[in-house]
Amino acid sequence: MAAHPLSLLLILLLGVLLPCGDSKFIAYNTSHGVVPGKLNVHLVPHSHDDVGWLKTIDQYYVGSNNSIQGACVENVLDSLVTALLSNPDRKFIYVEQAFFQRWWGDQSEIIQGLVRKFISSGQLELINGGMCMHDEATSHYIDMIDQTTLGHRFIKNEFNLTPRIGWQIDPFGHSAVQAYLLGAEVGFDSIFFARIDYQDRAKRKDEKSLEVIWQGSRTFGSSSQIFAGAFPENYEPPPGGFYYEVNDDSPIVQDNIKLFDYNVPDRVNAFVEAAIAQANITRTNHIMWTMGTDFKYQYANSWFRQMDKLIHYVNLDGRVNALYSTPSIYTDAKHAASESWPLKTDDYFPYADRINAYWTGYFTSRAGLKGYVRMMSSYYLAARQLEFFKGRNESGPTTDSLADALAIVQHHDAVTGTEKQHVSDDYAKRLSIGYKEAEEVVAASISCITGSGCGSSITKFEQCPLLNISYCPPSEIDLSQGKNLVVVVYNSLGWKREDVVRIPVLSENVVVRDSSGKEIESQILPLANAYVGIRNYYVMAHLGKIPAVTPQYWLAFSASVPPLGLSTYFISKANRKASTSMQTLFKATGSATDTIAVGPGNLKLIYSENEGKLVGYINTRSRINASMEQSYRYYTGNDGSADKKVIPQASGAYVFRPNGSYPIKSEEQGAFTVLRGPVLDEVHQRINSWISQITRVYKGKEHAEVEFTIGPIPIDDGQGKEVVADITTAMKSNKTFYTDSSGRDFIERIRDYRKDWHLEVNQPVAGNYYPLNLGIFMKDDSTELSMLVDRAVGGSSIVDGQLELMLHRRLVHDDSRGVAEALNETVCAFDKCAGLTVQGKFFLRIDPLGEGAKWRRSFGQEIYSPFLLAFTEQDGKEWTSPRVSTFSGLDPSYSLPDNVAMITLQELEDGKVLLRLAHLYEVGEDKDLSVMASVELKKLFPNKKISSAEEMSLSANQGRAEMEKKRLVWKAEGSPQGAKAARGGAVDPAGLVVELGPMEIRTFVISFL
Ligand SMILES: [Zn+2]
Repeated sequence: MAAHPLSLLLILLLGVLLPCGDSKFIAYNTSHGVVPGKLNVHLVPHSHDDVGWLKTIDQYYVGSNNSIQGACVENVLDSLVTALLSNPDRKFIYVEQAFFQRWWGDQSEIIQGLVRKFISSGQLELINGGMCMHDEATSHYIDMIDQTTLGHRFIKNEFNLTPRIGWQIDPFGHSAVQAYLLGAEVGFDSIFFARIDYQDRAKRKDEKSLEVIWQGSRTFGSSSQIFAGAFPENYEPPPGGFYYEVNDDSPIVQDNIKLFDYNVPDRVNAFVEAAIAQANITRTNHIMWTMGTDFKYQYANSWFRQMDKLIHYVNLDGRVNALYSTPSIYTDAKHAASESWPLKTDDYFPYADRINAYWTGYFTSRAGLKGYVRMMSSYYLAARQLEFFKGRNESGPTTDSLADALAIVQHHDAVTGTEKQHVSDDYAKRLSIGYKEAEEVVAASISCITGSGCGSSITKFEQCPLLNISYCPPSEIDLSQGKNLVVVVYNSLGWKREDVVRIPVLSENVVVRDSSGKEIESQILPLANAYVGIRNYYVMAHLGKIPAVTPQYWLAFSASVPPLGLSTYFISKANRKASTSMQTLFKATGSATDTIAVGPGNLKLIYSENEGKLVGYINTRSRINASMEQSYRYYTGNDGSADKKVIPQASGAYVFRPNGSYPIKSEEQGAFTVLRGPVLDEVHQRINSWISQITRVYKGKEHAEVEFTIGPIPIDDGQGKEVVADITTAMKSNKTFYTDSSGRDFIERIRDYRKDWHLEVNQPVAGNYYPLNLGIFMKDDSTELSMLVDRAVGGSSIVDGQLELMLHRRLVHDDSRGVAEALNETVCAFDKCAGLTVQGKFFLRIDPLGEGAKWRRSFGQEIYSPFLLAFTEQDGKEWTSPRVSTFSGLDPSYSLPDNVAMITLQELEDGKVLLRLAHLYEVGEDKDLSVMASVELKKLFPNKKISSAEEMSLSANQGRAEMEKKRLVWKAEGSPQGAKAARGGAVDPAGLVVELGPMEIRTFVISFL
């Protein structure tokens, strides 16, 4: 080390310090560990580096755009190296792998060598370990797993380490899935966070119950437990002046008695005082000080210099013991105390940081971005399957850049919609770039699988990422010249599946054939004028051009596709029209009392002709006959100006603070159009000049699909608006409803009630909102009504018998949480800008009591994974098939059990395969499907010979058995709750059958001979 250039630099630096008067070098003693019997103050130096928020991730990394926020992550990590080198007692944790990996790649071998030493000695600990600190309300559990895996596997490969600690210090409320899935199942020993409801926090401080054993899963009971610590206030240093960034105004420790302002006794007293205050609300004699906050340690030594002194002088004083620590050291100390901790179940939603400030608006903020993230998440899952079937090509294209973009956008200021507009645009750009490359992988794989050419001579299969705005150039072709349109339909689910494909076409004279040449039933629906307008505007906004042609029709047909497989359909010109939809316009006459039944199958939606609205729901098979209404409303965003005695609070990107609710009455006097046909029925309704919807009922399905188009939300009255859809029934739901946790477990919610404390209700609407990723349901003594969603949204049941979803919000005030922009998304094209229009879907169904889970779980998978469509053209009068027109990646006789989904199938860099299987049901959720399931691995890989299937932790960075052996076991107060979890047994290497108990997710790395 002597000849090391850095050491030389340090010697020079120290040399500069020496000539100050008569002062002499003080060797600070900072080597203290935990001292039994004393109050131990664990100083945990950290920097909270948002992976995009006010600046983009790259701006934060290099430190550009500093007029917005002076923040440079390179400075943090660069300065850390010298700071850690100059005192081996100093410790630091680093969290965000997206930044760390950028930096790591930029370092010389010398610096990398030093950092490896810091990491192996424990001076620098990589914790949490995902690419970002993901959100927990608006991130889907599959995305949370993927982004964590990406970071964890890098840490494993580069440093041979597995992070031990969850560090979710900034997300705005905490999900049960985070605790048990991304915590316990990842192998974490503890998880720490800051943001819990202010009323909850006050009570927990009183009862010394900020630190708990969190049992996030009903199904897994005590085996899902994790030690969870909520900080007393935030993730910053305690009150008392302990901030040490260069410009911070906390008093520095001045210990040179030759200089003025010597203050050691004063600072030691302040330290001891703050420590005792925290000890008074904490169990055991260990407390943690989070020494840092957002983008701190840009000159790391300015913090460490002060902490060196504090530790030295506080320990000379002797009243408390101060030490450099990490959350791992702290966790081990807590564990060693052999204490029993309060038990916490469920989750920490919703979050309010003070009166009237419920952070429930972000459940819906940037509904367009949220929809895009979900669409890309599903595409990534399918694209990895297709990449595996073709064989991963290390020289590219690959799905890796989509993986990276998706990981980053799970950050708690990304998919949440709480970033500045330019940052939101940056996330969307990254997704789009990742998609483009993944699209090439998909097209090449489909060409290969269908025998249309592999390697260099591939047939070009095009896709339609803008199908949601009715734009699909490859399907909008003129078939009159004898061309055939080939549609390849890929199903990424492990089950055979029938679903309706809808594509825009130019002519109604078309015929659809399957791969055997048999004509199949199809239906032509008109493309409504309103949608042509949106199509043209958004194609111009996204692509900078006007579409070359305008299709007049949608073609709908039912496709049947094998598990993890594809089917091919051929569309060609016909001399006669395809089945055209019978179209009827109903105009409220004010006199008729007739009703109309809509739906070609078992489900009938009943509309009142007179009022032009939905009035009933009938399922002829399950004998459900219920009254049902659907309507739209908006809340006006409060501007906070009437707040006098409390801090003013406006509705904004984070906070939902309504100021009244207003029904949206149809301007068209209830006129609506019904289209009927052999495949589906549609009801077209123009709700007002900025909301329209199409309700679809399919022949073979027993749910209704509502496609809403909302926007531009008018704000010319100066009022922000938050638009909700209501479904109203006569159900006696008794204040109770159920919402999913990160797309997985359902949690019971009771209006105006919290299990953990007596709720003081000051926001009767916003305080009852919960995040939805899968959906929401309610029940009475005979039926249950479920609503499922296609992206993250907020939802609630504010009135018995009614469910509401917040679908879009546009606001004119900032809500004072730092983003400093009103959530007012606009889109510009044709030299004008208008508020963002959002199009999306929700789905609803009523089942007999106890039978709804099947639909929520299996159809929930279908929503998450819609068919992937790829198109090519063929010339010639006769349709000719690609050589392979149907394909399944599984053994032809096999499909996954109804209660199991394959949530990851990915070829790794080394040719091994990462496989994740997820049981979809909780214990007791369904009488037939909440049971042990089994999957035959051999049948998942029919053309390969498996040499080993190693079971891994959820993030695939360590063997499962090794992880379970290491994990700390904690004691919870009271008797253990819940039955012992049923988990699948070890996998026999010969039989290779994987068992899965309810809610179990099992992760394997599979090697082949
Ligand atoms: Zn943050």
